[in-house]
Amino acid sequence: MKALSLLTPLQFEYQEIAEDFNLEASEALVKIHKIGICGTDYHAYAGKQPFFSYPRILGHELGVEVVAVGTAVTRVKVGDKCAVEPYLNCGECWACKRGLSNCCENIKVMGVHTDGGMTELVKLPAEKLHVSDVLDYEALALVETLGIGAHAVARAAVQAHDTVLVIGAGPIGLAVMEFAKIRGAKVAVLDLNPNRLNFCVTNQKADVAIVADDNALDHIKVAFDGNLPTVVFDATGNKYSMHKAFSYPASGGKLVFVGLYQGEYTFQDPDFHRRELTLFASRNSMPSDFTYIIKAIEEGKIDVQTWITHRITFEEIAEKLPLLVQDASLVKAIISV
Ligand SMILES: [Zn+2]
Ligand SMILES: [Zn+2]
Repeated sequence: MKALSLLTPLQFEYQEIAEDFNLEASEALVKIHKIGICGTDYHAYAGKQPFFSYPRILGHELGVEVVAVGTAVTRVKVGDKCAVEPYLNCGECWACKRGLSNCCENIKVMGVHTDGGMTELVKLPAEKLHVSDVLDYEALALVETLGIGAHAVARAAVQAHDTVLVIGAGPIGLAVMEFAKIRGAKVAVLDLNPNRLNFCVTNQKADVAIVADDNALDHIKVAFDGNLPTVVFDATGNKYSMHKAFSYPASGGKLVFVGLYQGEYTFQDPDFHRRELTLFASRNSMPSDFTYIIKAIEEGKIDVQTWITHRITFEEIAEKLPLLVQDASLVKAIISV
């Protein structure tokens, strides 16, 4: 079957790889229909994804069809349309034993640490499949991305009375906005890029857009009737943004780092104590997030069509993936296999 391997940074190769239909009792074989491309994929291509090894078949945002199941599988049946939870956890570690599959000590993310979905058929544990009888494969391929936002919003337990600031209007920030809005909170977005800010407001992802200039703190207060927001999400992974973010939450507020910065982060303890802040990290997402997101899309609470700005075929990936990232109108690109 066909596959696309990223041999080294900047070098894709279309290959023929062997099919493997030998399923463990708990596994399923799925046909890949749609694949979302995300920041991780662009970074892996550019050679900027930390702890990444080559060669690797990318693809962790997947809309799939079940084509075979192992003898013990009851969760899915042949023909089911599913989203894939690509976080392969060990089931044995202290995190897994406490139900924290998203931060398993031995986690392997499909398409990042193990080969992913840029191929025709993939074998995986059936428990990682999340079925919908309603959604199409494009919507199912978006569930994983949305999960990053749903989990972050769940971490901070956002309520309708919260005022929420999301820093960074890329796909991760957008995903956070979707779920903060569903919970009824007032949402403002802060970003440097006016096009992205426009997109957020036009598509009702955020109530207020704020340009990240030198007076951002003042603009934020204006957006929330003179007060600071009760929950702040940083979806940039940028050191400078994350430092500034520390001064944005109100007293008793929460700061959630959704984006990851690969280095040391410091803050002034008096700033932290004076306002009695709570600082959260948010990583991946949980099985329950997948269930919740699929229901939210099925009920029309998320308009997935606003997310998809580019569509390409499997054969076009090698040529077009490097160019997509330079396109200012990019939100999400979806591959048809
Ligand atoms: Zn992703
Ligand atoms: Zn584990």
